[in-house]
Amino acid sequence: MSLLKIAKMGNPILRKIAEPVSTKELETVEFQKFIDDMVETMRDGDGLGLAAPQVHVSKQVVVIESFENERYPDAPTIPLLILVNPVFKYMSRETRTGWEGCLSVDNLRGKVTRSRAVKLEAVDRNGNALVLEWEDFPAVVLQHETDHLRGHLFIDRMKDLSTLTHLDEFGKFWIKGENDVREV
Ligand code: ZN
Repeated sequence: MSLLKIAKMGNPILRKIAEPVSTKELETVEFQKFIDDMVETMRDGDGLGLAAPQVHVSKQVVVIESFENERYPDAPTIPLLILVNPVFKYMSRETRTGWEGCLSVDNLRGKVTRSRAVKLEAVDRNGNALVLEWEDFPAVVLQHETDHLRGHLFIDRMKDLSTLTHLDEFGKFWIKGENDVREV
């Protein structure tokens, strides 16, 4: 496995609509290795999610993983999940506002309002159908990551840019150690 270079805000690949992955492509050794590399890159960056455009590949693949650890003792547990060609089937009108950060938007945090509950369909790395009905923080992670496949960053979703803050100031003036500010 190898670490992949992360595309940062300003790179046009983050603004493109990613292409779906065909069954044939998904089955290739190269693509399976790419998925493994995405997982390794997410873990190395201490992120809880990563979308393929963030590593310069404009394909509809997302990896997610979250678990309690020393740095984030209240983090919800999401076992490693690979989503290929994800599509939302439902997004609640009820919303939830929380802090978000992103591996492609270094050292910034901002408050984003999103649907509180979602239903998402995708396939896993073996091409098997997945249906997720998630609420609260895990639902936010799904929305943040799927946004990357549509060319959106969390800052696009901010209604009020006055909460956009550098990490240093976030620690000083906003909430320290809140669990839902890991980079995704
Ligand atoms: Zn992100």
